[in-house]
Amino acid sequence: MAKDPIYLDNQATTPLAAEVFDTMVPWLRDHFGNPHSAHILGRKAAAVVEVAREQVAGPLPKGGSVLFTGSATEAINLGFGAVRALKTEGKNKIIVLDSEHAAVRDTALSYEKHGFMVEKHPISSDGVVSLEQLAESIDDKTALVAAMLVNNEIGVIQPIEEIVDLAHKKGALMLCDVVQGYGRVDIPNNVDMAAISAHKIYGPKGIGAFWLRDGIGVPPMIHGGGQEQGIRSGTLSPALCAGFGRAAELCLKNRDTDAAHIQILANKAQSCFADWTINGAMDQRYMGNLNIRRDGVDVARLMSDVRGVAFSAGSACASGSGRPSHVLAALGLEPAEIKSSIRLGFGRYNSLEDIEMASKYINEAVEAQLA
Ligand code: PLP
Repeated sequence: MAKDPIYLDNQATTPLAAEVFDTMVPWLRDHFGNPHSAHILGRKAAAVVEVAREQVAGPLPKGGSVLFTGSATEAINLGFGAVRALKTEGKNKIIVLDSEHAAVRDTALSYEKHGFMVEKHPISSDGVVSLEQLAESIDDKTALVAAMLVNNEIGVIQPIEEIVDLAHKKGALMLCDVVQGYGRVDIPNNVDMAAISAHKIYGPKGIGAFWLRDGIGVPPMIHGGGQEQGIRSGTLSPALCAGFGRAAELCLKNRDTDAAHIQILANKAQSCFADWTINGAMDQRYMGNLNIRRDGVDVARLMSDVRGVAFSAGSACASGSGRPSHVLAALGLEPAEIKSSIRLGFGRYNSLEDIEMASKYINEAVEAQLA
């Protein structure tokens, strides 16, 4: 079998941590109880789900609850449901940052057919939203403001606490997509709703979570047996929940060592790619993301030339779709600059050697292109 490429696409997904795998195995192999059954096998499974819920709640604000979902996308869709009740109070405006993931943008746009006006709010050329401009946009008619903690394409961190304050001043709710920052970047205590994904934190695919502040109502999206407070029916997988919980626990436990390791990798990458320009702010950034561009490079060709490195052009969703990155466009980059941008994502399991070898392969291919 061909050797696996060096994996530098940790924003798209992360490898499963060995500890997470070990935690999940007994719940796949030995135990099969339905966590919603009343007998002993069910109660054992339910206990594991509840431990996982506590673990996932670790990095989240107090005063709310964690509902398990199939993905962060599903959690985001649930969160948007909160606007339905606000419509009856005359609130019919939704504001999302222009740099949001498709899970937020497209869900927001789907509310246009329910009579909501959707504003894609601009970001500055460094990727950070201007709070002054945002304050002007949020008005008494605003039902919901959605902004992400860490951008999946450029790694920029938004001033979430201040954004929530602005939303609350006008009686609007705030939904935060914390997928790319959970367990690594602090989540402000004042958010109303948050969406998380296990497969971005070295956990399993197929499970996410929706965090909901007490007292906020969201209608069910999936009807059925009434699980997850009646908001998300369907039998939970104890194995996925246990894996997600363990992954969350490891993120908290390893937070400082992970951050130090990623900073070392980022420093190395910045020196290896010194001839490239960084897209997005350097001071408000998650260091595991390096989005860079180099004039004249054809990234589509680069990706096919450099088979030894798994990296991305724009976001994993945008690359392959043929659509130029809406995030890089929101920074004000020209189409040619967007087409010459790549995203490198480092994680817990990357080594300095990965960065050295990957930069060698990429830079050699670039020099050959530009020669
Ligand atoms: N939000 C962000 C910022 C993401 O990076 C992703 C995944 O790419 C999602 C949401 C969607 O997460 P999931 O794959 O769990 O639906």
